[in-house]
Amino acid sequence: MNLVKVAVPVPLRQQFDYLLPEKKYIAPGVRVKVPLGRRQTIGIVMGQCEKTTIASSRLKEIVAVCDSEPLLPACLCDFFEKVADYYHHPIGEVVLTSLPRALRQAKPLPPVSCLWANRQNNPALVLNTKQQDALKAILACLDQFYCFLLQGVTGSGKTEVYLQAVAKVLDQGKAVLVLVPEISLTPQTKERFVSRFGDVVVCYHSQMTPKKRLEAWTRVRQQKAPIVIGTRSAVFMPFSQLGLIVIDEEHDPSFKQQEGFRYSARDVAVWRAKLLGCPVILGSATPAFESLANAKAGKYQLLVLPERATQVKPPEVTLLDVGQQKLKAGLSPLLLAQIALRLEKKEQVLLFINRRGYAPTYMCLNCHWLATCPRCDARLTLYSEQSTLVCHYCLFRCSCPPRCPTCQSTALQPVGYGTQRLEESLKAHFPQATLARIDSDATRKKGYLEEILTKTKDNEIQLLIGTQILAKGHHFPHLRLVAILDADGGLFSADFRAVEKMAQLIIQVAGRAGRVHQAGEVFIQTSHPAHPFLRALFKQDYAKLTETLLDERARCHLPPFSHLALIRAYAKTADLPQKLLLHVQKGLAPYLHEAVKILGPVPAPMLKRQGYYHFQLLLQSSSRRALHQMLGYCTPLLEKSTLARRTRWSLDIDPQEMF
Ligand code: ADP
Ligand code: ZN
Ligand code: ZN
Repeated sequence: MNLVKVAVPVPLRQQFDYLLPEKKYIAPGVRVKVPLGRRQTIGIVMGQCEKTTIASSRLKEIVAVCDSEPLLPACLCDFFEKVADYYHHPIGEVVLTSLPRALRQAKPLPPVSCLWANRQNNPALVLNTKQQDALKAILACLDQFYCFLLQGVTGSGKTEVYLQAVAKVLDQGKAVLVLVPEISLTPQTKERFVSRFGDVVVCYHSQMTPKKRLEAWTRVRQQKAPIVIGTRSAVFMPFSQLGLIVIDEEHDPSFKQQEGFRYSARDVAVWRAKLLGCPVILGSATPAFESLANAKAGKYQLLVLPERATQVKPPEVTLLDVGQQKLKAGLSPLLLAQIALRLEKKEQVLLFINRRGYAPTYMCLNCHWLATCPRCDARLTLYSEQSTLVCHYCLFRCSCPPRCPTCQSTALQPVGYGTQRLEESLKAHFPQATLARIDSDATRKKGYLEEILTKTKDNEIQLLIGTQILAKGHHFPHLRLVAILDADGGLFSADFRAVEKMAQLIIQVAGRAGRVHQAGEVFIQTSHPAHPFLRALFKQDYAKLTETLLDERARCHLPPFSHLALIRAYAKTADLPQKLLLHVQKGLAPYLHEAVKILGPVPAPMLKRQGYYHFQLLLQSSSRRALHQMLGYCTPLLEKSTLARRTRWSLDIDPQEMF
């Protein structure tokens, strides 16, 4: 029999066997039209198969072959299988969702021009000794897989090291992939590559039009794209002659997809490099603990750029104890005075607060009633527009009640500060200053973020208020003062990664200050100025901080010293997800492995969300192999359970958030 395995777009963890119509050979990576149940669909041939478990009476024939040449290079098919295996995710979804939409149907590749031709080389900078050492190490490994962790403080010249490594790779006639965590960072990164190498850069992210995405994908497939800059999905592009992968801001949580196919683009990029036999550079001022542990274990080579590349000194950090102080507009009097001083000198100020909306809490002063979401275990955030209350988890919204629903009092008040309220009070305080707010509410308007970023770079904005969007590697040449308004959020969280994330965020935000002309200043408001983590941050000692925190992780057998997988289940009633997870737990009993701990089922940290009750089962192991073996038993239990019809579930390998 002449059989092939086909990946089809269905949520099942298997490939489908089909008969070839004639005694032909179809190469892996070719699209085919196949019958599936009562309909027909486009799938991708993943390989030949020797035999099948399907009865010959039920075996179906391929309807049509769509490509004369494979759409995907063979190495990419192997890679998809590996990735789908690792994440225990349906292979058809992994393969087909990676394709531009037109290619999920039987559309042909469009004609594209080659970008190699107009390459021009603008001069490179003379590297300092640390940069030279880093570059030398990278260039020594250009034709093989090797993983470098380039840890360099903001402004230390990491990008210059990437650029000079890229130049050598392009000389070899190979392509380069640069991954950035956010779409908003692509223009800035693109600009730097274009100014060095000419107009040979292809972007790839989800805000491009389907046509542009298809064009970019095709360029890569035809080996007509020397440099690709993209967000996480670019890791699945059809490269065949890749010479280098760069992952900038590698610590950024955005590299992990948080829904559907929950992959880590950083980890996947490292495997991709391994399969393609090229080096990969992970760059960050604040590397993820996983990456630091890999460097410590000798899997990655650590390259350090300890100082800024320009003459500008690192920013001076001041901790402001606001525990006992009366704040004005959410700011300590000292900070307000400092801001006034900077504004007088026409210097730029950035205020970082990780809460959007007007106020995070709306309360009755008489009976202490709090506005909460009817569908989530969460408080509603007050928005100034038409005084609405909004839930950040399910987007439930309602107008503010005129009276307290419990005691009928009219003494209702916002408590705490969000970006909108800060904006309002700073406008009142500094009426002369030009001011802009950047958060995911403000940036929903198309083009707004680009506009503000450009204006900031051109020094047309004096006061910038924003959330973590501002922490992500943006380059603000005129910024002098950075204030972090609440540094305590991560200190007492239930999430074991909270302090790591908070430290990364604070150091990244602080790194925006004083990059080109003069040293910057950073003020951190806290109610716990003596806390050892904040002391370490105060000294900008990420190494010291990570050492302490990694020791703690090791003692508690938490990642990176163990591996986790989280099974989440949720339903309209609380009993169903618990039952489903108990069913899994019981089903695993015959296969228990001493190296795998099963914890739960327990309610999720936020039990009720969007009207659903969320529960979870955590698998923890020191052995990745044992953990994955166990997960292999979990998925059939979940897929085949009748409970799963009324309960939704998902599997998260190496979860970043424990929600
Ligand atoms: P990073 O990527 O680490 O934040 P960049 O590569 O953006 O750092 O460099 C920060 C600034 O320092 C840039 O303005 C860059 O032009 C400058 N720079 C980098 N390397 C050098 C060097 N070797 N000599 C002089 N200036 C440099
Ligand atoms: Zn009340
Ligand atoms: Zn809600």
